[in-house]
Formats: sequence, structure tokens, C-alpha cells
Amino acid sequence: MPETVLRSFGQGTEPLLIVHGGAGHRSTPLTEDGTASAHAALERVLAAGHAVLAEGGSAVDAVIAAVRELEDAPDFNAGHGAALTSSGTAELDASVMTGDGASGAVAGVRTVRNPVTAARAVMDQSEHVLFGAPTEAQLAEWGVETVDPDHFITEKRRRELAAFQNRPDPMVQHGTVGAVARDASGHVAAATSTGGIVNQQPGRIGDTPLVGAGTFADDATVAVSCTGTGEVFITEVAAHSVHARVELSGAGADEATVQVLDRIAARNGMGGIIVIPAEGAGLAAYNSGDMFYGAATAAGSHTHV
Ligand code: ASP
Repeated sequence: MPETVLRSFGQGTEPLLIVHGGAGHRSTPLTEDGTASAHAALERVLAAGHAVLAEGGSAVDAVIAAVRELEDAPDFNAGHGAALTSSGTAELDASVMTGDGASGAVAGVRTVRNPVTAARAVMDQSEHVLFGAPTEAQLAEWGVETVDPDHFITEKRRRELAAFQNRPDPMVQHGTVGAVARDASGHVAAATSTGGIVNQQPGRIGDTPLVGAGTFADDATVAVSCTGTGEVFITEVAAHSVHARVELSGAGADEATVQVLDRIAARNGMGGIIVIPAEGAGLAAYNSGDMFYGAATAAGSHTHV
């Protein structure tokens, strides 16, 4: 198991945005073009999300803006360019939560251009938290943009699926995108979106749309977005576990995150977690070998590929 890597960004109560484009392990290094494309995509994502914070916007608007960009970028496993199921289809999951306890999520959507916008619609417009495969009529009522299911499928992902089916390697199945933010009013929010894992059975749902597992936010403690072995993140209730450790044991966000990643490793899982506390530095941590991530403050941005 690779060692746990932890990087910190920002300080005090300053507005802060941290994003990830999925944790996993690369059996072959990214090409030069792939590296440049992922850095450029992360810069676009940070610019979109941080612009919201710089204009005095809310943490939830910032994470939605950032995750939409991540979903549109084919470099990452969410939205356009999502990982494909064993049947070659894209089944997309997303969730959002604000620090005051509002949340919304969708699982198994096939036509929503930006699944995180459907999660937000559930949060803002329904009395519920989670919808599995909402109907086209529900999506229309929520005013969510839909596209043909082929929009999500890229040639690269078709080749990846064929290679995986030829020679399965669980370490390379992973990916997901997410964002956490703290705004000038001291509110935090988190959002996460994924195509799941490469070659997953149709209907399989991971941690991403499950509030408490893949996503959690509380203004008194932390905002959290996860990526990694979904089944283990679910059983560890990973995102909420970071919050609970901070709230109940008084652990720092960094200590709490490493403890949760250690428990995930002990159960044969791996992945990454981004966290922004109500006050203090935010962080990106992973124990999977590789993770795409980036952070932006008023002082500038940093991307890692
Ligand atoms: N956690 C995601 C899922 O299980 C996949 C990942 O982040 O690698 O669907």
C-alpha cells in the first residue's frame, strides 16, 4: 500500500477552494499531453470555483461551479468522459451538501449533462435527499439540462473498458471528482460526482451519491469530498467519520483524515479525501499512489496531476 500523502492549503478563515479529479493508481504514467491537459483542466476548474468566492458568492455555488467544470472535462471520471459499466453505458452519481445541513443527491442518471446540477435541484426543489434514476419528467420539472447518453462516452473510456475486461486490475478502476469550499461568510460546502468504477455492474452505486460516505459538510467542523474504493468508503461512512472525529474527539482535520484513510487501508480500500475546516488550513490527502487535485486562495492556485 503506498504511503499516505497529505498537503495543506490556505489558513485562518480565508475563502478557500480545494478540488480533486480522483484518486487511484496509474499502472502507466500519464503522457505529456495527458499531464498538460489535466493541469489545464484543473486550472479552469479552480478559476470557475474561486471566481464565485472572490465575488463574495457562497461556498455551495463555488463547489457546484467547480464540479460542473470537472464533469465537462474528459480528463476525469465524471460527466463527459465517465468510466463505463460492464455493458458500456455511463451511469452517473452526484451529491452536494452545505454546512447548514441541506443536501441532495442522484444515482444512476444517464442523461443529465451535469449530474451535480441534478443533485442541487434535489436539494433546492424537492423534500427529499436522494433520487435513484430520476425520470425525464422529474428532470424537466427541475429544469436540469439533459443530453443524449452518448454525450458521456469517449473513445478513451471505450478502450479502457476493453483493456480492463481483457485484463482486470482493480487498482486502475478508480476516479471521481469533487470540491470543498469555505466562503467569506464562514460557510462550507462539498460536492462529489462520478461515473463509478470501470466495468462496474449496471446498477452498482458507490459512495459518491451517499451523504455521509462520499460527501459531508458541517459549518461547525468540516466539508469533505471523497474518492476511492466506494464499497469501503460506504462501510466506513468515510466523509462523516472525518467530521465526527473533529467534532467528538477534537482531532484536527488533518489527523482525522489520516485516521479515516488508515481505517480504509486496513479494510483493503484506498483513495483520497479533500477537506476544508471551518477554520484553518484545508487539505488533500490520499493513500492510493496518485490523485489529481488543486487548491485556490486569493493568493493564487496550485494543481497536482
Ligand atoms: N468512489 C467512487 C465509486 O465507488 C470511485 C472512485 O472514486 O474511484 O463509485
